[in-house]
Amino acid sequence: MKIVRFVYKDRIYDGILEGGYVTADMSLPAKGKVAVRDVRLLPPVNPSKIILVGLNYADHAEELGMERPLNPIIFLKPTTALIGPEDAIIYPEASCRVDYEAELAVVIKSIARKVKRSDAAEHILGYTCLNDVTARDIQKSDGQWTRAKSFDTFSPIGPWVETDLDPSDLKITASLNGEMKQSSRTSKFIFDIPYLIEFISGVMTLLPGDVISTGTPAGIGPMLPGDEITIDIEGIGKLTNHVRKG
Ligand code: MG
Repeated sequence: MKIVRFVYKDRIYDGILEGGYVTADMSLPAKGKVAVRDVRLLPPVNPSKIILVGLNYADHAEELGMERPLNPIIFLKPTTALIGPEDAIIYPEASCRVDYEAELAVVIKSIARKVKRSDAAEHILGYTCLNDVTARDIQKSDGQWTRAKSFDTFSPIGPWVETDLDPSDLKITASLNGEMKQSSRTSKFIFDIPYLIEFISGVMTLLPGDVISTGTPAGIGPMLPGDEITIDIEGIGKLTNHVRKG
């Protein structure tokens, strides 16, 4: 099942996407149905927090010449950074180097606190694509990552939450203006999703709709105003955004 949020005639709906139509409540025409081309898709979740994992692919650690971390390195993005499919990534004036990072995001279904990895699956609603947009120059100069990762529009997510998916070995790519820049598989995770849920829920209570983004593979690189960036994950779909000058 594909879970969506969308705008139709100035109202926001939660719905399901199937066969080119979104279905929500009966206030939509044609028995609660409308063609997906006639709506604007929003971020498919409305989380209380977005937790991201740094350095979680073996190929990305090798690319950076870094040791594999002993524990997941986690950080947060504010929910004000979220944008949906086709929304613009705004290139901030404060940065000269803004990168894409293709990531698989996990959406939480039910309150999760101190969950064992063996019970983690019960707390997962589904999966979506996330672009962990990063002002790389600011990440380096600041030392800590909050400013570099938190500009408005720096968290494209979507296009929907896929609930029926085994995430253990999915192809994940990033394409810039149609040219493939990142290509890897989620089987290269250093820390798998059940372990991440155990680790993170041991720190903070996860609420329904919260997002855990699982890190990016090798091949990160810069975007410029005018560029089109697409994250594509097998079994989910494509998340495309355009970069605009701030
Ligand atoms: Mg990242």
